[in-house]
Amino acid sequence: MSLVADNIISIQKRVASAVARTGRSQESVKLVAVSKQVPTSLIKEAFEAGQKIFGENYAQDLRDKSRELADLPIEWHFIGHMQKNKVKYVAPVATMVESIDSFEIADAISAKATRVIPCLIEVNLGDESSKAGTSCEAVFELATQIIKLPNLKLVGLMALPPYFDDAEKSRPYFKTLSLLMKEMNEKLSLNSPLTELSMGMSHDFEVAIEEGATIVRVGTAIFGGRQ
Ligand SMILES: *Cc1c(COP(=O)(O)O)cnc(C)c1O
Repeated sequence: MSLVADNIISIQKRVASAVARTGRSQESVKLVAVSKQVPTSLIKEAFEAGQKIFGENYAQDLRDKSRELADLPIEWHFIGHMQKNKVKYVAPVATMVESIDSFEIADAISAKATRVIPCLIEVNLGDESSKAGTSCEAVFELATQIIKLPNLKLVGLMALPPYFDDAEKSRPYFKTLSLLMKEMNEKLSLNSPLTELSMGMSHDFEVAIEEGATIVRVGTAIFGGRQ
């Protein structure tokens, strides 16, 4: 078996045991294999090992890879920052956009989409200037605007907290995102409540699952280190 296939199987097992510890159903957590900078040959190996959802963070890469792998029923999540002129590469192929951080981008995606695309608002939990995402305060107003758009369906929140070697240090950030979604569900009059929390990466996805993640985004632990 290939290394990537081995990794997929071992990460899927670790996801499953973390989910089991929470008492939630196995279907309640999805693994996104983050394939940024990874060639399509390896994406194919991961797919053949049973991985169905892949995440890309550059619009053109998403367009190119989804074209190359068009014969496989892959679900593509867009997880990166996007410029308005790149929306046209993402809207036709993304099964979910996890990284909405402004109304301008949300509006542009909705305008270019030919179906309703589920989306998440990216929240900058650590208020880090190096990272994309909206602030915890601005998220309420942004959600209120997004739910009016015809071709986007807001289903939850995504975050990329500050990096710590010790995964336990990420836990308070995961708790904050979970509480923020709860507060949004209480304060905003949404037709259907937000349910998705995309949080947790290679080094801390188990802690994220314990704190309520429904989507974990794992790159390095599947495909190895990047440049
Ligand atoms: C790269 C990336 C990941 C995956 O990070 P790893 O540490 O390689 O697992 C997850 N989410 C986003 C938004 C990313 O850009």
